[in-house]
Amino acid sequence: MPPKPGAPDNARLDRVVADARRARETREQGYRERALKIYPWVCGRCARTFDRSTVSQLTVHHRDHNHDNNPPDGSNWELLCLYCHDNEHSRELEHSQRGTGDTPADATATHRPFADLKSLLERKR
Ligand SMILES: [Zn+2]
Ligand SMILES: [Zn+2]
Repeated sequence: MPPKPGAPDNARLDRVVADARRARETREQGYRERALKIYPWVCGRCARTFDRSTVSQLTVHHRDHNHDNNPPDGSNWELLCLYCHDNEHSRELEHSQRGTGDTPADATATHRPFADLKSLLERKR
């Protein structure tokens, strides 16, 4: 089906979005692995411990809620179990409804699907 005149190039947009998502996933895996190497596998709130079979429930929280702030010494990371991580963020939401930074990837995508698209497209040109 040929695109309508003036319609956005959806294939291109899809590719840009997929690229961005892949880059984010790669980056997240990178810091998660590093954090799991630096820190003991213990939740920083409830002190629950994890092993290889349960470590998927252990998540990396960014203390300043900025996922781009990943110092190599791990000072911005905190290992939290899923429940405590959830609590940590709902507490934040009570204080500010702005939802900055450290929202789960999917929530971000739902609320602002194309927020970064313009800059991505500019950069690709
Ligand atoms: Zn916990
Ligand atoms: Zn977090």
